[in-house]
Amino acid sequence: IELRNEDLKDLQELGAGNGGSVKKVEHTPTGMIMAKKIVLIDAKPAVRKQIIRELLIMHDCKSKYIISFWGAFLADPNICICMEFMDKGSLDGIYKKIGAIDIEIVGQVALAVLEGLTYLYDKHRIIHRDIKPSNVLCNSQGQIKICDFGVSGELINSIADTFVGTSTYMSPERIQGAQYTVKSDVWSLGISLIELALGRFPFSESSSDDSDLSDFEGTLSPARPGSLALGLPPLGSRNSVTAKSKKDKRKSKGVSLQGGGMTMSILELLQHIVNEAAPRLTPEGKFSREAEDFVDSCLLKDPEQRRTPQDLLKHPWIEQAKISDVDIQAWASTF
Ligand code: ADP
Ligand code: MG
Repeated sequence: IELRNEDLKDLQELGAGNGGSVKKVEHTPTGMIMAKKIVLIDAKPAVRKQIIRELLIMHDCKSKYIISFWGAFLADPNICICMEFMDKGSLDGIYKKIGAIDIEIVGQVALAVLEGLTYLYDKHRIIHRDIKPSNVLCNSQGQIKICDFGVSGELINSIADTFVGTSTYMSPERIQGAQYTVKSDVWSLGISLIELALGRFPFSESSSDDSDLSDFEGTLSPARPGSLALGLPPLGSRNSVTAKSKKDKRKSKGVSLQGGGMTMSILELLQHIVNEAAPRLTPEGKFSREAEDFVDSCLLKDPEQRRTPQDLLKHPWIEQAKISDVDIQAWASTF
């Protein structure tokens, strides 16, 4: 059936991210609970319509590792995307609540994300482009699914025109301007898995004193004209730093970098990702050799050497995850 904004009753704010916010809503005619993502974009009507058309491809994305899609429509200046509501929320919220996630569960996350990425690429030639803990969701049935993948080229462009998302889950080759490939998603998965297993963002300790990322917390200020504008993520999630407008991004490429040490810290982080050794599952020996090796292979800096999601489904750690009897539903009932 056709979704209409008038039929959706707001129940709860679920969160906000780069250029959008998500609400828990009830579809009043049917009583169905959904998640409604509102994307604010500045685009011409023809472009908006094109975006909606492209989003409808999601109707064909049917996998138990992918969030179900209920519909997308225009609502005044916004684009609304209605999807399956996941009652345990995203993995970033979960680890911030309960602490580091047991490695057996992290293995199930890796398996689900690889299955989801393989499905999207093999069946639809879609590259996710935004793998991170907040885009991996869990429900009380113990299902793990990915959301927010890049189906609409026009939407990706429009968001890029409005926001400059500099995600710190970005692979070295992406930071250096190379094209997105499925292997960039594999890098992002590696970073995300370390974050879940350690209960903290992996780069927050590896950097040297003068580029300590803990400086990020609380010290980023809202956009100021003439400075590199940085949006402050909510407290405790200093992992995705976002410049606010394209104009400011151009400025950041120039010589004059204002905005103080924090501006440099982000550039330093990106530089760090490109130039230094990739993070690892530490301390050595705490996790199984297979788990360590899996993360290492996700985080090979050379994309030529890095394996594809399909290939990584055959990794020994993932083979173990496939036959594991760990009970995600029981785990999810503890929080
Ligand atoms: P981000 O992914 O960068 O955090 P989003 O706007 O995509 O920003 O999402 C904001 C928050 O809304 C997410 O962190 C997640 O916790 C929550 N969320 C998104 N989609 C769903 C969903 N389908 N079900 C439940 N919670 C969701
Ligand atoms: Mg998201």
